[in-house]
Amino acid sequence: MTKLFSKIPIIVILLSTIISLLGIYHNNETQNGTYKIAEANLFDAEISSNSVLDDGPYIFIESDHQGISKSIVSGKVVEKSVELDETNFRIEATYYEGVKKIAALSDIHGQLDVFIEVLKSNNIIDDNNNWLFGDGHLVITGDIFDRGSQVTETLWFVYDLEKQAKAAGGKVHYLLGNHEYMVLDGDLRYIHDKYNESANLLGLKYPDLFSNETVLGKWIRSKSTIIKINDILFVHGGLSQAFVNMNLSLEETNQLFRESIDVSEDEFNSNDQFKALYSSNGPIWYRGYFIKAISKLEVESILNHFNAKNIIVGHTSQSKIVEAYDGLVYVVDSSIKNGKSGEVLFTEEGRFYRGKSNGKKIQF
Ligand code: ZN
Repeated sequence: MTKLFSKIPIIVILLSTIISLLGIYHNNETQNGTYKIAEANLFDAEISSNSVLDDGPYIFIESDHQGISKSIVSGKVVEKSVELDETNFRIEATYYEGVKKIAALSDIHGQLDVFIEVLKSNNIIDDNNNWLFGDGHLVITGDIFDRGSQVTETLWFVYDLEKQAKAAGGKVHYLLGNHEYMVLDGDLRYIHDKYNESANLLGLKYPDLFSNETVLGKWIRSKSTIIKINDILFVHGGLSQAFVNMNLSLEETNQLFRESIDVSEDEFNSNDQFKALYSSNGPIWYRGYFIKAISKLEVESILNHFNAKNIIVGHTSQSKIVEAYDGLVYVVDSSIKNGKSGEVLFTEEGRFYRGKSNGKKIQF
């Protein structure tokens, strides 16, 4: 099945090569406006005829300020030496106080175009994709990875937006979801086929493109899984009573998740805390709020345990941003993964709003 499909792009490329050589069709721009190599001669066209793939860059750290950038341009690996301004990322804090405005969304799953559209129509970024949210905090509640075909581009977009937000006195929080941990752990069941091809061309396994020796890999390892901003908790799946019973602080939880990434399978399996955190009752997989496995009283008790008023989660897909338990819980996975549209949750001074795909704000 996969093998049959993988032959289709070859046929398409052979046809388009013939057509472009005949001068019938000429287009040097990719969809996102990136200028590709023009004037490809017959020889180049033949070499690149086994793939149309564009991906990267994946930057491999050589020393503190030096790296090798590997990109795939029209199916060919392009390597260059690059200077790096940052290779040691500070571990993200867990608690944030005094934040005036917060926006949250999740489960982007490689759909950069929809993600950008939602941010744009809700004035979080401007028409040139630059930060417009001032001193506000944008929380991405996990799952940039898997399913879609713009994962790398989304990661670099967030990487850049994070810097812009910081310069403006704001903040981007990229929290890790189950799909980040799956990929880092080598569970590649949900990656877009394109990324198998990328890894093959680079002669590596897909998780190696995000190892601790890469810029994106190191950056991701600095991220948190749970944060608390003012009195609101943010986490990908949710917090269960079983998690509360583990008696971990939020900071300890973040640290354990970070440690879990690079341990061997044996080390993982002999650690009960790792196993509990990755279980269906753990913070990155829990769906209890949506199958009503838990009462409002129990949700209140969990919130009290962490001295919080609300919890914002992703992971369980909805057609729009919805609330549960009379506004104690908000779920911000508005199915951006379908590649059509999405929403963003705003919260300001204890009030919550749905930021719709057309930019309209509706208060809960
Ligand atoms: Zn998820």
